[in-house]
Amino acid sequence: MPNDELRMTNVKKKRSIRHSTFDIRNSGRYLVGGVNSPVRAFKQVDGDPLAVVRGRGGLLTDADGRSYIDFIMGWGALILGHQHPAVLKALRGALNKSTILGLTHPDEIELAKLIVEAVPSVEQVRFTPSGTEACMTAVRLARAVTGHAKIIAFEGCYHGHGDALMAGKTAGIPDIVASDIVRVAYNDDGALARALQQHGRDVACAIIEPIAANMGVVPPAAGFLQRVRQLTQRHGALLILDEVVTGFRVGYGGAQGLFGVQPDLTTFGKIIGGGMPIGAVGGPRRVMQRLAPQGDVYHAGTFAGHPLSMAAGIATLTHLAQASPYKRLNQLAQRLAGGIKERAQKAGVAVQVNRVGSMLTVFFSDGQVANATQAAASRRDRFAQWAVSLRRQGVLVPPSALEALFISTAHTDAQIDRAIQAAGRAFQEIRSPRSAS
Ligand SMILES: *Cc1c(COP(=O)(O)O)cnc(C)c1O
Repeated sequence: MPNDELRMTNVKKKRSIRHSTFDIRNSGRYLVGGVNSPVRAFKQVDGDPLAVVRGRGGLLTDADGRSYIDFIMGWGALILGHQHPAVLKALRGALNKSTILGLTHPDEIELAKLIVEAVPSVEQVRFTPSGTEACMTAVRLARAVTGHAKIIAFEGCYHGHGDALMAGKTAGIPDIVASDIVRVAYNDDGALARALQQHGRDVACAIIEPIAANMGVVPPAAGFLQRVRQLTQRHGALLILDEVVTGFRVGYGGAQGLFGVQPDLTTFGKIIGGGMPIGAVGGPRRVMQRLAPQGDVYHAGTFAGHPLSMAAGIATLTHLAQASPYKRLNQLAQRLAGGIKERAQKAGVAVQVNRVGSMLTVFFSDGQVANATQAAASRRDRFAQWAVSLRRQGVLVPPSALEALFISTAHTDAQIDRAIQAAGRAFQEIRSPRSAS
């Protein structure tokens, strides 16, 4: 147990109590559903929502002063953990210059250069305030470049909440928009080939998470991404890799570096903002030059290239480039995944632990999980019990069976050990449910 953290928590308890006068139980009065993003309501695990007031390193502290080992980690944004000194220093420096400058500033160029140097398929970058906007802009570019309308997307992948890419997943999208979206199963290149055969003449792009993280972690099957690349190329459709999660997460060159795939466009987000709001589209100059003001594809944003996001992003990528913590992240994640598997086995609970680098998902499932259908068929009721038990034991995993746990460089070996022990107890509770109490 990190005693320092606990002590700090106790010392600051008075302040936490002041925070907690905004009681989480009243959140629904002023915020729709009590949240600003649905998964935070804990509805998928039948749990009470949690109000948190502070994060530090690998820990998160709630409004009552309880601390948790945090595997949500800003939904993947915080690869260096909460309050990394280099990120805080960069943010303080940026604040001394203004909160928003309103014109191009050097940090925008520097962060773009870092991304270009890390990712060979990217020659130029356009920043947005969110991953959602990056994906919207990438799709618009693809449509302009090809002159086609249809988009092929993969079941279970998430590309933000823009209209086209949410078709069929939410109310409020006109048929005319939805009719341009073709969905095929992840890891099924036969389905993609058939879709391209059928719609090829009208397809602008295929967009895919190179490692799916939004149906839980689902890695691409061997050769799958290469097939996706070949097939899109053959039919004159652009390939957009959505690396909002995987960029700088599974390696400094992202998933495309790991698997050796060259997309036409890439979207980024999360990590590249170092915990501040961000998104980015990147690609070869000939495609990117279609964006305004060079070209005829409009994109703009008051907060695009925001100084605080640029500063935190530069600090994060610079640290990742210098410290290259990926081996250690892998080791920590491997130990967590292995420990969880072993404890599940001991308790006689069937799980599949899908992991790529420092992201993983525990599926309560007998068979492998390689697509959205298999992910959805996992025992989400069991996951819910497990997640609620973990939370009671001071370990926070995403409150959804279809999300990823993220390991940061701030997680310690001791925290991983504690999480494994807690996971073991949670599996035991699933096997022998506690009598109602
Ligand atoms: C989070 C996410 C997005 C959306 O990014 P926001 O910043 O939340 O708008 C897009 N694609 C993927 C793969 C994501 O995980």
